[in-house]
Amino acid sequence: MTRKTQIILIRLAFLILFLAVIASGKMVLWLALFALTLPAAILFGRLYCGYACPMNTVMVAADALARKSKGKRRETPAWLKQSWIPWLILAVSVAVLLGSKRLLRVNVPLLPFFVLLSFVLTLFFKPEVFHHFICPFGALQRLFGRWSMRSHHVQADACIGCKKCEKVCPNLAVRVDAQTRKAVIRPADCLQCQNCVQVCPTKAIAYQRVENGSH
Ligand code: SF4
Ligand code: SF4
Repeated sequence: MTRKTQIILIRLAFLILFLAVIASGKMVLWLALFALTLPAAILFGRLYCGYACPMNTVMVAADALARKSKGKRRETPAWLKQSWIPWLILAVSVAVLLGSKRLLRVNVPLLPFFVLLSFVLTLFFKPEVFHHFICPFGALQRLFGRWSMRSHHVQADACIGCKKCEKVCPNLAVRVDAQTRKAVIRPADCLQCQNCVQVCPTKAIAYQRVENGSH
């Protein structure tokens, strides 16, 4: 079984688990799982985002559909490029969740809403629009991912600056420096998805311990 197939199966297993949790009406269980993955992001990087997140899984499917249809997807709107927007969305989401429960005694299906939103948006925009500029869960993961002790990393000696990694990264985590022509990955933004590993022609990228100063 190839690495790619293994990754697809892991994502599908988590998606099925997510659907089962939602169907049972216990959304809080998934939120608890998510909370546990925040300290885990310090130890292992943002593995939740790359493998367990239902939004990422449906976005991978939407991205594949959009690429197949060959329609041109729109650029990220300039007004959306604000670092505070995901935090505002997080605050509103928490207020809606708690307010509706206390005042109206209803559970707002917040997670299914974000899953649907991420899928639809990715049909029309590149994945980074949701991952980087909208997702409130991603904002929390990014915060903890800043201190991640392990992440994907580029061996500068082996990098030829071809930018193939940049093109497949769903979260703007890797950039080829214009002067050095070497790729650099920011662990805080890296979803550990391995897209870049699969396309790098020189096998310059590996999951390893983060050296001091690489954050
Ligand atoms: S795909 Fe590999 S060789 Fe090309 S820029 Fe990225 S890390 Fe460097
Ligand atoms: S840098 Fe590589 S592993 Fe990290 S999110 Fe981008 S494509 Fe995925």
